[in-house]
Amino acid sequence: MAKVPKYVYFFGSGKAEGKAEMKNLLGGKGANLAEMVNIGLPVPPGFTITTEVCSVYYQNKQKYPKSLEKEVRTALTKVEKAMGAKFGDAKNPLLVSIRSGARASMPGMMDTILNLGLNDQTVAGLVAKTKNERFVYDSYRRFVQMYGDVVLGLKPVNKDDIDPFEEIIEAKKHAKGVKLDTELTAEDLKELVVKFKAAIKAKTGHDFPEDPLVQMWGAIGAVFSSWMNDRAIAYRKMYDIPESWGTAVNVQTMVFGNMGEDSGTGVAFTRDAATGENYFYGEYLMNAQGEDVVAGTRTPLHISKLKEQDPKLYGQLDKIRKTLEKHYRDMMDIEFTIQQGKLYMLQCRVGKRTAFAAIKIAVDMVGDKFISEKEALTRIEPDQLNQLLRPIFDVKEKDAAVKSGRLLAKGLNAGPGAATGRIVFNAVDAEAWKNRGEKVILTRIETSPEDIKGMDASEGILTARGGMTSHAALVARQMGKVCVAGCDELIIDYAKHTMTVKGRVLNEGDWISLDGTTGQVIEGKIQTKPSEVLQVLVEKTLDAKDAPVYQTFAKVMQWADKYRTLKIRTNADQPDQAANAIAFGAEGIGLCRTEHMFFGEGKIGPMREMILADTLEQRKAALAKLLPLQRADFAGIFEAMHGKPVTIRTIDPPLHEFVPHEEKEQRALAQAMKISYEKVKERVEGLHEFNPMLGFRGCRLGIIFPEITEMQARAIFEAAADTQKKGIAVEPEVMIPLVGNVKELVNQEKLVRKVAEAVMKEKGVKFKYLVGTMIEIPRGAITADEIAAVAEFFSFGTNDLTQTTLGVSRDDAARFLIPYVAKEIYTKDPFEVLDRDGVGKVMKIAVEKGRAARPGIKLGICGEHGGDPSSIEFCHLIGLNYVSCSPFRVPIARLAAARAALLNPAEPAKKAAKKVNKKAKTSRKK
Ligand code: PEP
Ligand code: MG
Repeated sequence: MAKVPKYVYFFGSGKAEGKAEMKNLLGGKGANLAEMVNIGLPVPPGFTITTEVCSVYYQNKQKYPKSLEKEVRTALTKVEKAMGAKFGDAKNPLLVSIRSGARASMPGMMDTILNLGLNDQTVAGLVAKTKNERFVYDSYRRFVQMYGDVVLGLKPVNKDDIDPFEEIIEAKKHAKGVKLDTELTAEDLKELVVKFKAAIKAKTGHDFPEDPLVQMWGAIGAVFSSWMNDRAIAYRKMYDIPESWGTAVNVQTMVFGNMGEDSGTGVAFTRDAATGENYFYGEYLMNAQGEDVVAGTRTPLHISKLKEQDPKLYGQLDKIRKTLEKHYRDMMDIEFTIQQGKLYMLQCRVGKRTAFAAIKIAVDMVGDKFISEKEALTRIEPDQLNQLLRPIFDVKEKDAAVKSGRLLAKGLNAGPGAATGRIVFNAVDAEAWKNRGEKVILTRIETSPEDIKGMDASEGILTARGGMTSHAALVARQMGKVCVAGCDELIIDYAKHTMTVKGRVLNEGDWISLDGTTGQVIEGKIQTKPSEVLQVLVEKTLDAKDAPVYQTFAKVMQWADKYRTLKIRTNADQPDQAANAIAFGAEGIGLCRTEHMFFGEGKIGPMREMILADTLEQRKAALAKLLPLQRADFAGIFEAMHGKPVTIRTIDPPLHEFVPHEEKEQRALAQAMKISYEKVKERVEGLHEFNPMLGFRGCRLGIIFPEITEMQARAIFEAAADTQKKGIAVEPEVMIPLVGNVKELVNQEKLVRKVAEAVMKEKGVKFKYLVGTMIEIPRGAITADEIAAVAEFFSFGTNDLTQTTLGVSRDDAARFLIPYVAKEIYTKDPFEVLDRDGVGKVMKIAVEKGRAARPGIKLGICGEHGGDPSSIEFCHLIGLNYVSCSPFRVPIARLAAARAALLNPAEPAKKAAKKVNKKAKTSRKK
């Protein structure tokens, strides 16, 4: 008989059945609770029901495995023993919390129930035990409220409704003439409990269960069900968390932060999660439960205050902070509760952080000798670098706005960066406005996990309540969104869709700007400016020594360069783009799209004349106009690249993008070409193609009109010769696009080499150059051995290779590709992330055949995938020499390439390449 798996893991009394490494089975929370017990930290005892149960539950029509109930009973008995209390006992009741805990942290997405085990009997026992009637009834009303909401489903119906339980509380406060919850007496709270239960019965038809075991199973079921709620599903999609992982459920002894002024609760980061500074960053509230801190209903105190209030406790907490950092070798996020002066740890996990913080912490921890350079690199997600390259406000404009009285308020600087947008007051509107192209700032009293999609749709998030660890702050930082939280001067009226601050009324749709670095909220729109890194590298308006963020960034880049084996090039068509890319660390140009050079001033006309030319003479006349323009552009690029390799692709225009479609433009062109408007119109119509992306493009154009390739080759080589004469080294690589048949390449290569020889002779100089091709047609990949006999390099054009391998038009595939991704036919848009199993295999064939025929062949990629971290990893794995991406993605590619090398230490690519080389030698011997 197959062994029944163990479904429940106990932790407490100094020993746990689980450990940190068991995250997949116990979820993050369960595994870390066990680990904290194992390293001797004070953790209230409890048990974890494994993620496997969640999978069985969903595979089995929401039924639990048979052995679960018995295992839960056994674990519960152990907890009772550890605590010296009994679940459901009228005299000495044990109360528990029930919380979710998936493998990956999903903050606030699933449900939690606290104070479970209270009923009309146990309440009396707890009063006798604690001699604190108010505390007990406060706990009871919180429990009934949570249970009523989460398990029994009494929630607001419409987006502008207030919570039905809060409505009852507000009515009570109003009747008593008090403002704060804490001003309600035990008797008031007792009445609230009765009213809550009546409301639950009236609105849901359910009785509130008095039996604690029924309560427990109801709560466990609700937590498992919450794995499939809308916000959890949306979150999983956003962060690529597979549904199959499931959540664990943690049942843990309650400890109370609301037992009086010597009790409290808090959340903290072992370092500052926004900036990465190495100091204890946390918030706490005395006489409160955890939900008060996270929900932001009361604004908490900074942890440094605890040092003044209770230095002993603070000392204990600070010691735990150090123990945890040393043990986990990372910045941790913790939750703690103080019950009548005694400290308990309720959670620890690796803390979420902004990109700024991720980078700073990784670099600082190398300095602390907690981690190595290599580990630091693997801890920074390449895309996080985007945040460092994000805009900040134009200082002058912002100062002027503040001076002119547009500063509305100041809140907490919860998510750094600059955002400007129009006010919306709920998540549904945020999404709708974004979908019609508006930039929005989601403005809420406080956010909840329900708002997640709206937050994602916003430029920035502004809340009136809540601290640095409130939901808004945590989620915004994780998303990399600008966020100002806890801005308590704001009076937000959801029903009227207004925000009032200092008597000023702002309406939905009004512009505001948020400075997430200072916490300022400013009326109106403010221009944004590039980030610190950009100011140092691109604008050159800031000195590196005055830019700490830049310095940390530079260190990461320096380490990345040490470990990567892939070279990083850029796709650039203009000298300024090339210069930016070099500033970001590009080692060459991997793709210069010559047709893009014609978008500039004064160039589109001759380009159109060339396309529309009817005769060789007309075309030659147009080409003569283009030659000097191209030559000047190439010279600019060669100069900017200072001897670095420059791959210039011969013209590859989808013709429809270049011909004029408007009558006015067609008439102007007719005049310039000295032909009739009708003639132009006729030519444009004649050039119409049903799928221009598969039409008269690429080398096909140069083969039919060789004079075009000749002109381009001349422009390239004359520019190279002139630049070299100026004493600047040049390394041109001429690339022929859309080659599927070696004869196409042979045809174009001959032309190019003929011109090169001629120019060298005319100019009296010698320079090295290469002629290669793009591999972007499956036939080209399959016959790569034949092509490599001619081509000195291959560059994978994965935009076209994806289009042609999948048989999907790159121009209009979104209509079905987006639903395809939703249906997981492709896990990611294959035009964004390389389809390894299809396009990737075609590339592999080309790499193997190419290297077999020409062992030293240079291989790269210049499709958009060249800037995508996952695709870069694939390029590393198949042994390409370089990736080429847009200038602003160069830092991301550098880091992604380093991570690819570090995370794949076996270097299969190099081995494969060696094998191929060996084979090539043997086959040549035959
Ligand atoms: C490609 O096809 O991947 C490529 C780089 O060329 P283009 O996008 O210009 O067709
Ligand atoms: Mg292409």
